Amino acid sequence: MTFFENAENRGHESIHHFHDAKTGLRAIIAIHSTALGPAAGGARRWQYDNEAEATTDALRLARGMTYKNAMAGLPLGGGKAVILADPGHTPSEEMFLAFGRCVESLGGRYVTAEDVGMTMGNMRTIKQVTDFVAGLPPNEGSAGGDPSPWTADGVFLGLEAAAKHRLGANSLKNLRIAVQGVGKVGYDLCRQLHEAGAELTISDVNPVHLDRTRADFGARVVAPEQILFEDVDVLSPNALGAILNADSIPRIKAKVIGGAANNQLATEEDGQRLADRDILYAPDYVINAGGIISVSLEYMGNKTAADVREQIALIPGRLEEVFITAEKQQQLTNVVADAMAERIVNAGT
Ligand code: NAD
Repeated sequence: MTFFENAENRGHESIHHFHDAKTGLRAIIAIHSTALGPAAGGARRWQYDNEAEATTDALRLARGMTYKNAMAGLPLGGGKAVILADPGHTPSEEMFLAFGRCVESLGGRYVTAEDVGMTMGNMRTIKQVTDFVAGLPPNEGSAGGDPSPWTADGVFLGLEAAAKHRLGANSLKNLRIAVQGVGKVGYDLCRQLHEAGAELTISDVNPVHLDRTRADFGARVVAPEQILFEDVDVLSPNALGAILNADSIPRIKAKVIGGAANNQLATEEDGQRLADRDILYAPDYVINAGGIISVSLEYMGNKTAADVREQIALIPGRLEEVFITAEKQQQLTNVVADAMAERIVNAGT
């Protein structure tokens, strides 16, 4: 399948395939839009079954970044990089430098940061060869650093807004909340939910992550195949995409869904399936924008952690606007969010 034939290619500006024979780097950078500014979005290092799957992922994620950045009010377009991980191969410092040179070669049309499988240390390495990178260790009080805690902050505030809207709850206290995935974002989210007095049920495939979260926050643990179907008020997906689908949705008991995972709906029809079951879905790229807000303010320079906090505090208001508009127009929350994001991007072109 070529770039032009790929069903996920919906008006992407360009896609770039890179190969560095010396280090074995194979990377794809998809640029969906630069209408509002440089295409910004993290680099994901992942083991894909084949190149077509990696390309589709890059295209899908890049488009999501355009929408996410637009809805977060950032002067950025949308792009994404994927690095194809090889089984049993530990990536070398040279490989990350080679990736940095790929980013540099795009002359600033794409700005990278960390995503799944990448660390702040990797960003520091990449910074040696390009300035088009964020998610670096911050100076005291300035914007920057690992975006995950900021993403968790936004998800927490977004869940408060969603629970208020759907359940009439003035806080998350005593609400039963199931969290799928307690990695970087999920762990920090659980900390905040625990402090807010929520009753936590968690699951993860990584026993270290699971034990740490159970021990620190007294969470109840269930098997990975059970977490989506727990008898809870709120479900927060913080692991994988496409978990909301024709198979899972009929069995979900939660009335509110909101979490950091990207592309939670497997298909656009799944938004309708959720609405048919009266489940309020907080569109993923609206509720999980905290990390990119931090990355973006760091990249702009001269911004503080307080500035990041101020911008993240706008997430619940944006979600509320999506929820209210969806009700008024008898529309789906994911459709309303897409339309709002497209209006913002079109106004910038
Ligand atoms: P992470 O890799 O640190 O955490 C993901 C966790 O999910 C891991 O602990 C992993 O073991 C677990 N997991 C994997 N498969 C699972 C399964 N089947 N059931 C239960 N748990 C499973 O990643 P993260 O940075 O915390 O990001 C989580 C999600 O949020 C990802 O989808 C990511 O793309 C998205 N996201 C992250 C950020 C960020 O700032 N880190 C920002 C926006 C979106």
